[in-house]
Amino acid sequence: MSQYIAINRFPDTWGMNARCPVCKSRTMKVIHFDSSADQLQCPVCGVSFEVEEKGEHIFFTQTPLDLEIQLKHHWVSRQELAHELGNRSQVVPSQQIPLEKGNNQPKGNPLRAEAVRRARKLVELGNSPAVVRSALSESMQLTDYAIEEIISDAVNVHKMKQKESNKKYWVIAAGAIVIVILIIFVLVLVL
Ligand SMILES: [Zn+2]
Repeated sequence: MSQYIAINRFPDTWGMNARCPVCKSRTMKVIHFDSSADQLQCPVCGVSFEVEEKGEHIFFTQTPLDLEIQLKHHWVSRQELAHELGNRSQVVPSQQIPLEKGNNQPKGNPLRAEAVRRARKLVELGNSPAVVRSALSESMQLTDYAIEEIISDAVNVHKMKQKESNKKYWVIAAGAIVIVILIIFVLVLVL
């Protein structure tokens, strides 16, 4: 005989408010049984369990594979569960394959990056490509080809930004027109 009594029936809404005690996922499913107590099931990590009337203990019918011995088919308190999960999180990282593959990727040319930044800023401020070109060739040691490339990038970025903000204005204008039409419509109905 178990010293704890499981809640026999609980409402489906419980699932929406419950949080998985194992993976912390926020969508739990309530499973109803005719001949035994209802269970909460986590669709993310697959655990399912009964809940004690006092809410302090849970009874796993499905556990994560690595915690089967510790948790399955007996009542565990929230503390015991936290303890097992804590042990587990210490074990899991060491089993993971190390992801450090060496940081040998070539870093971008800092001078060029600076030129790109400056060019974009100058174009955004309304300077013509000729102005940007002379500013870059005076201050930056870059080839003419690189400078041309940087300027066309800056112009493209600027055009894209303008397009984006134009789009925003159109959306606002369209919204305003719809509101005005609605107001006229309501006024016509009322008057
Ligand atoms: Zn879960």
